[in-house]
Amino acid sequence: MAYLTLHGINKIYPNGFHAVHDFNLEIEKGEFIVFVGSSGCGKSTTLRMIAGLENISKGDFYIGGERANDKGPRERGVAMVFQSYALYPHMTVYDNLAFGLTLQGVDDDVIEKRVISVAKILGLSDYLERLPRELSGGQRQRVAVGRAIIRKVDIFLMDEPLSNLDAKQRVTMRSEIMQIHRQTGATTIYVTHDQTEAMTMADRIVVMKDGYIQQIGTPYDLYFSPVNMFVAGFIGEPPMNFVETRIVNGVLDIPNNPIDLNRFADRQVIEEYEGREVAFGFRPEAVQLSDGEAPENCFALLSKVELVELLGDNTNVYADMYGQNVIFKVDPHLSPESGTGFECYLPYDGVYLFDKQTEKRIRLKAR
Ligand code: ADP
Repeated sequence: MAYLTLHGINKIYPNGFHAVHDFNLEIEKGEFIVFVGSSGCGKSTTLRMIAGLENISKGDFYIGGERANDKGPRERGVAMVFQSYALYPHMTVYDNLAFGLTLQGVDDDVIEKRVISVAKILGLSDYLERLPRELSGGQRQRVAVGRAIIRKVDIFLMDEPLSNLDAKQRVTMRSEIMQIHRQTGATTIYVTHDQTEAMTMADRIVVMKDGYIQQIGTPYDLYFSPVNMFVAGFIGEPPMNFVETRIVNGVLDIPNNPIDLNRFADRQVIEEYEGREVAFGFRPEAVQLSDGEAPENCFALLSKVELVELLGDNTNVYADMYGQNVIFKVDPHLSPESGTGFECYLPYDGVYLFDKQTEKRIRLKAR
């Protein structure tokens, strides 16, 4: 059995709202798992059930093979970091860090050693005598993380710990949290609505929507093999483009953009979807430009440029593909001009197809 097992977990709040449906997940010791999804999809509720702060309405939760549904938060050996720092305002950084251990009756000299070592890991050594109000947002969040890791627990639970920080601090804290994870080896479950955080931090990501798991996988899996339109559109920035079309004689019927599936997709798939409505998906960054011959194993995509957004490291081109909006992410040196026709090339393996009805991905090749 895995280290943590969530088996058929459901949450129905007292008001009758069914917030989490049939959540199944096995987590190995030391993994860094990220729950990601839009606000209200049930991430925090699931995390709080794991923490023991919210009871499990239905299903079984195991820690190290032992059923833990009825164990209190302390017995579970978890430490949680919240979005709000929840520091004691009248206590110094030292006392904030030491507080949990003091409550547990740990000897003062042991506490001192642990505080000094945690402060060093988090770059707080020079701030131990300060009060929280004398710290920056990033430093406060570090103290909050420090209070969790000082307890030397096996499981860290983090609920949007970076959302009060500015963009730069978030990037710094992101790598610090990952470093702490490497140092402590603690199994970590991290909740965020930010797909970039999920992609950069996770060993595996759990994508949720409306209380249901959509997909579980590595960042690579989710990016290259999304199971449905929701995951395809949620992971990646800017999101995947979707162009509504239908399949006619094995070709996507987009004016002047005939994507001929016969060139690379399995015959069986083409026959099954012939005449049906589908969404053609492709990632903004999957296209190539060429000022000479068309590259091999690519389809030409024609559109009209509406807006060019220069971002420095790349340029986003907002374009109209015969009545449908698409975005291309291209080399800034090759940016086209607004109002002009735009031709770029999409490799065969950059073509995604989704069933319009079910929104599920259509596998173009049996791999
Ligand atoms: P997330 O963390 O993904 O933003 P939450 O787990 O906080 O989402 O909430 C999931 C859903 O459950 C939301 O629709 C929220 O309004 C609802 N919810 C959260 N707490 C309660 C509660 N105590 N009673 C009823 N509904 C709740």
